[in-house]
Amino acid sequence: MGRNFFVGGNWKCNGITEEVKKIVNVLNAAADVPPKEKLEVVISPPFVFLPHVKSSLRQDFSLAAQNAWVRKGGAFTGEISAEMLVDLGIPWVILGHSERRLLLKESNEFVAEKVAYALSQGLKVIVCIGETLEQRESGQALIVVAEQLKAISGKVSDWGNIVLAYEPVWAIGTGKVATPAQAQEVHADLRKWLKSHINPKVAETVRIIYGGSVTSANCIELAGQPDVDGFLVGGASLKPEFIDILKASL
Ligand code: PGA
Repeated sequence: MGRNFFVGGNWKCNGITEEVKKIVNVLNAAADVPPKEKLEVVISPPFVFLPHVKSSLRQDFSLAAQNAWVRKGGAFTGEISAEMLVDLGIPWVILGHSERRLLLKESNEFVAEKVAYALSQGLKVIVCIGETLEQRESGQALIVVAEQLKAISGKVSDWGNIVLAYEPVWAIGTGKVATPAQAQEVHADLRKWLKSHINPKVAETVRIIYGGSVTSANCIELAGQPDVDGFLVGGASLKPEFIDILKASL
């Protein structure tokens, strides 16, 4: 199968300098983390801490920004451009997180444009998709994620630098994790969608990671699912248990 396991730590809007230093120390001290060829680790602090974390974090872990502007920088107060991230040597960006889709009303098309622009500037993208509880309960989960995927596929031709994060909104920060079977079902369907709408090679090679209340207690069973290629971890990425999650694929 050959898809390298991938774990992202999304710190969201958390931390002040002292806490950031502590988390970096914990990450740097972690022993027995699988080597880079087996596990890709990408840490995503708030923008303002990116330079500090870049200079202090262990070299085998990489960094992601949590957002980027939809096109070239300019008169867009408060935004951060893909060019700036590239200039700082930040290789990854998270786009389409449900907190931005829902709270900041980022549409499928807007997210897709952001993905396309970030890729065009040489960034690698963790793109988040997922359904709300209401959508799941009304049987719409697969339709919703397929629409999110369709918008992206309309704007993107090269999937080599994309990691797809399936994050059911009802599982994010709620402690209600998807069961391994629920995650596997959606991941397998996403792969089927990629196979029929893009091509079999993309379906086989794109990593599909799961996000939503991943902890050290549930990560091993989730990691055992054939189509779960890793995790995007929020709350638990701020805690020492994140190290156990990094070892879930062992
Ligand atoms: P959570 O967040 O692990 O705190 O549920 C996941 C995410 O939003 O990426």
